[in-house]
Amino acid sequence: MSDRLSVRWTIVPRDCPRPVFACPTCGGDRPFHQSGKLRLNANGKRLDAWLIYKCDDCDRTWNRPIYERRLAAELPPDDLAALRSGDPAFIRRLAFDLAALRRKTPVIAQSEEVGVEKVVTGGSAHATDIEITLAVPYPVGLRLDRLLAAELGLARSRIVALAGEGQLVVGGGGNALKRPPRDGQSVHLDLADASDGRGIIDAAGGTANCAAHMNGQTT
Ligand SMILES: [Zn+2]
Repeated sequence: MSDRLSVRWTIVPRDCPRPVFACPTCGGDRPFHQSGKLRLNANGKRLDAWLIYKCDDCDRTWNRPIYERRLAAELPPDDLAALRSGDPAFIRRLAFDLAALRRKTPVIAQSEEVGVEKVVTGGSAHATDIEITLAVPYPVGLRLDRLLAAELGLARSRIVALAGEGQLVVGGGGNALKRPPRDGQSVHLDLADASDGRGIIDAAGGTANCAAHMNGQTT
């Protein structure tokens, strides 16, 4: 009997985090982008591995240490195989590992450009109540209020107003709207009193067709 639509948003940044530091060739601070390549140096039983970055302006390389003088036998076999083959999925995981990157370089530029995949996971398409669960596999630089405004087609001031009236409730406390979205975070909207609620719910759920399909309707 639930009159609530449940959706999951998977939020993926379009660009990897980019370290910013003084490029020895350019002579000033520049962002560096990852090149999609690893360098592996095996010396006896120990190995070093780096992820290769390039200066945005001059292509000068920076080798980000991933493993330093590590015993190959200590590494998970899957990681070792991925290192040796230069597995793109493994490289992508390293490139998006913001916490590890921060340990090597303090200033990091994060793109606010994200892709959002919306999937209806249950409930009625005619609900005025919607629960959005956020899946955030990689850290994103975008604030949650900006993300919601863009994806729901609303002004940011409206997002703030809905939160102020209790019609928008975000998991994670009072300042959560001003911070980037977190994996597993919930966003609950109660739009029974909103004249434009229908359009907001359609935007939240992706497409109207998808919602109708979930509801078992065929036309
Ligand atoms: Zn440069």
